[in-house]
Amino acid sequence: MKCSTLRLGVAFAATALMATGAFAQSRPTIETTKVEGTDNVYVFRNQNHQAMFIVTPAGVIATDPIAYGKPQGGQQYLDEIRKISSQPIKYVIYSHHHYDHIAGGKAFKDVGARFVAHRNATARLKALADPNTVLPDESVGDRGRTIKLGGTTLELKYYGVNHSDSSLVMYLPKEKLAFAVDWISAGTFPGVGMIDSQPLLWISALKEVQKLDFTRFIPGHPGNGNRTLGDKKDIVELIDILQTASDTVKAEARAGKCWEPASKETQFSKFAKMPGYENGRPHLAQRFCGLWGRGT
Ligand SMILES: [Zn+2]
Repeated sequence: MKCSTLRLGVAFAATALMATGAFAQSRPTIETTKVEGTDNVYVFRNQNHQAMFIVTPAGVIATDPIAYGKPQGGQQYLDEIRKISSQPIKYVIYSHHHYDHIAGGKAFKDVGARFVAHRNATARLKALADPNTVLPDESVGDRGRTIKLGGTTLELKYYGVNHSDSSLVMYLPKEKLAFAVDWISAGTFPGVGMIDSQPLLWISALKEVQKLDFTRFIPGHPGNGNRTLGDKKDIVELIDILQTASDTVKAEARAGKCWEPASKETQFSKFAKMPGYENGRPHLAQRFCGLWGRGT
């Protein structure tokens, strides 16, 4: 408990720094914060990636190892959990199949955690056999799965193809909190992650997930202002971004401007001030050029 209290102090200090605009310069590489208003839900951040873990009297549920290109990252994540709980790590649940979120889980495998992912993630990971990515022990189908452990209920929900074809929403109904990665973001502009997305299905999935009874979500990357959490206003904004980009590039494609010059030059100026806009804009334009210009 002592460590937990200390951590809340760190989180509070970070929030204060964020308010002064000094947060980006001062934030540590690794940080664990308890989600305010919950008894046992934490966010582990390693550089610009976030994962959720839940501590219960019967064991710990961890998620994405977020140790891509970080050989010590999985162990560091485990060490952070160990500062809070000595309970066994029962599960590691993958948000989707992209390595930048799920590589590096060996330390969790070594202590006996059961790895869970959507079946599309399992199929892809088996085919690619990345040496740094632990294969799932269990696959979840499209109808999802509910995990109950030590008084916590965690629902794994699937909303179809969006940013990937294997994205699970991890939903805590009691806490009205969700963890979803890359297909729900908190005030940041989409970017390179558009590459294997299906944008129209993504928009539909966002409209569906809005109906779920949650007030806050943990995104896979910190939001604008380095905030740890997002809310439904962020989802409304993301729908607007994707729909605006879709409509804009569709018109360009119908005018014969895809791939060139539309994939390079199209602007979505309404969102120009968002973090990541300059880097993300060509990725968004290119993906929608593929969709409307070529049917891909
Ligand atoms: Zn991704």
